[in-house]
Amino acid sequence: MKEFNILAVDDEVYNLQAIERSLRAMEGYVFNYYSSTNPVEALQEVKTRDIHLLITDQRMPSMTGIELLQEVLKYSPHTIRIILTAFTDTGEVLDAINLGHVYRYITKPWDTKDFTVIIRQALDYYTLTIENELLSRELQLKNQELQRGYESLKKLDDLKNRFMMVASHELRTPATIITSSLEFLNSNNANFTGIQTKILHNALRGSLRLNEIIETFFEMMNSDSNDKILNPTVIELKSLIELIVSRIQEYAKQRNIEITTLFTDNLTIMGDRRRIYLVFENLLSNALKYTQDNGLVEISGKRENTMVKVAVKDTGIGIPSEELENIFSTFYQLGDIQHHHTSKHEFMGGGTGVGLSLCRSILMAHHGKIWAVSDGSQKGSTFFVTLPHQDK
Ligand code: ADP
Repeated sequence: MKEFNILAVDDEVYNLQAIERSLRAMEGYVFNYYSSTNPVEALQEVKTRDIHLLITDQRMPSMTGIELLQEVLKYSPHTIRIILTAFTDTGEVLDAINLGHVYRYITKPWDTKDFTVIIRQALDYYTLTIENELLSRELQLKNQELQRGYESLKKLDDLKNRFMMVASHELRTPATIITSSLEFLNSNNANFTGIQTKILHNALRGSLRLNEIIETFFEMMNSDSNDKILNPTVIELKSLIELIVSRIQEYAKQRNIEITTLFTDNLTIMGDRRRIYLVFENLLSNALKYTQDNGLVEISGKRENTMVKVAVKDTGIGIPSEELENIFSTFYQLGDIQHHHTSKHEFMGGGTGVGLSLCRSILMAHHGKIWAVSDGSQKGSTFFVTLPHQDK
């Protein structure tokens, strides 16, 4: 139930007590009663406390009731105002209505029953009308705040996209030049000392990884506009996936992770080979990255009506159920990214947080789907991919 703050102002203490008695006779309302014999003090009360109803006498020595109401109107327009006047003061009543915008006037001496009817009406009016007005104004302000928040987020998102666009375009060429120069040196390194060769290998590994990251950004930036397959060819998924497995097998062995494949049907699809390769390469390198040493990764594929379905299952760190959808958002990563070092195959090697989002947009362009299932932390994860089957 609403707790009202009611303030009564009258230079006669006796009247203040009578008002309080009449109020206390009302049932079904909860209120705090404040009273003052001094209008200046009463005004201070209105400025510091949320007063819902003000009852003031008109004739007071330091300030008239109407003057007080005019001031109250400035500081707290939503306070309901009631004035007490003598029966004969019609001019004052008119002023109270026109200048003090009073809700009602009560003539003195009042009848307690009539008085409580007016007060009840005033409090009900507050609950039904004023409170709704205040709430809708608050809602309006919250909406404006939300709109401002949305606009600044959108600005940030645009900036992020522009940054990615500029970075991937501008970094692509110099990164390729560095990598090809290092590759040239690597294949012509006859006169290099052992330490020089080691430095060269490190630099080459780093620049290859840099190229991969830039390519992922580049793909991501271009994937939004590609809702169609760019270079469609018939792809046999089994051999494509086995090719990827053979390329990552070396890293799996170093960490004693066993990779098994199980394909029961012919799994041909129509797609952009390079992009479909990226999807399964991402899923497999994630499976390695997020599985502890000595774990298992199992890839299986089968036909399901008009679709092919591939599952990449690992015995790794798992994914909490509330994150299963979030991980497909661009740049979304679980855990503390401060501790990440980017590596494609090391345990918890981290990355850019773009891989799964890229997988989803590539698959969408191919009318396919991707989703993750996990029993939770440390319970392993399975990533499912479906794509329309294509007869050879
Ligand atoms: P990242 O470059 O961080 O690997 P991804 O978009 O590929 O970015 O993955 C997003 C997040 O999803 C990862 O940071 C990781 O927290 C989680 N994730 C992806 N694959 C797996 C997996 N196989 N097991 C557990 N968590 C995974």
